[in-house]
Amino acid sequence: MIFSDTHIHLLAPEWRDTVPRRIERATQAGIELLLQPGVGSADWDNLIELARLQRSVYAAPGLHPMCAAEWSASVAEQLRELCCLPQVVAVGEIGLDAVLEVDQQLQENAFRGQVEVAISAGLPVLIHCRKKIAEVLNILRQAGAGEVGGILHGFSGSVETARQAIEIGLLIGVGPVLLRENARKLPAVVEQIPAEMLVLETDAPDMATGPEVLIDVARKLAELRGWSMEETAKITTANARRLLKLQDK
Ligand SMILES: [Zn+2]
Repeated sequence: MIFSDTHIHLLAPEWRDTVPRRIERATQAGIELLLQPGVGSADWDNLIELARLQRSVYAAPGLHPMCAAEWSASVAEQLRELCCLPQVVAVGEIGLDAVLEVDQQLQENAFRGQVEVAISAGLPVLIHCRKKIAEVLNILRQAGAGEVGGILHGFSGSVETARQAIEIGLLIGVGPVLLRENARKLPAVVEQIPAEMLVLETDAPDMATGPEVLIDVARKLAELRGWSMEETAKITTANARRLLKLQDK
C-alpha cells in the first residue's frame, strides 16, 4: 500500500534536526509521496534541496498569503525558473486568507501573479483559503486554472463548495479535520464527491504531529466510503500522481 501526503511542511522550524527520521518513519508507514508547499521565498531553495536528496519528497514553491508582501518582479522570475526543475511539481501554497492581518490587495496580487506563473509552467496549484472561497474560485476561474488543476488544501467547507471547487479542476485535500469528533461537514463531503477528486494530507506540523497521522485520516476515509485501506491508498495516491504528473525525478 502506498499513501501520499499532499501537504506537509517538513522544514518547519520545530522539526529542524529530525527531518530524515520523520521521512524514514513516513516511508515505514507506507507514505511514499510527501509534497512540501512553500511559505516564504527564503525557504524555496531548501525545499528543493530536500526533494533532491529524498526520493519520496517533492516541492511546491510559492508564497503563502502571510508572505504576500514578498511578491515582486524578481521573486516572480525566481519562481518561474524553479518551475523548470524536476523536483518542482506544483506551486503552493497560494491563495487568500481573510483571517490574516495582511493587506487583501497585496494577497490578491501575489495570488494572481502566482496562478499565472503556475499556468504558464503547466503546474497545478496548492490552494490555501480561509473565508475567501468565492474570491479564490473566481480568480482561478478567470485565470483559466482548470487547465492545470490543483488541490484545495485543508478542506472544511460544505458539499456545495466542494462541488464548485471540483468544477474548476480542484481536488479536495482531506486532512486531520476528518478525525475531529465533532466534524460534520467534511464527512458528508468525502462521502458525496467523486472518488477521483480526493487526496490526503496532514499539514503537519500545524495540524498533525507527524506524517504517520495520514494513516489515521486514511482509515477514517476508508470507513466513510466503505473502502478497504488498500483501495483508499490506491485511489488517493493515483489521484495525487495524476494531478502532479509524477514521473521519476
Ligand atoms: Zn500548509
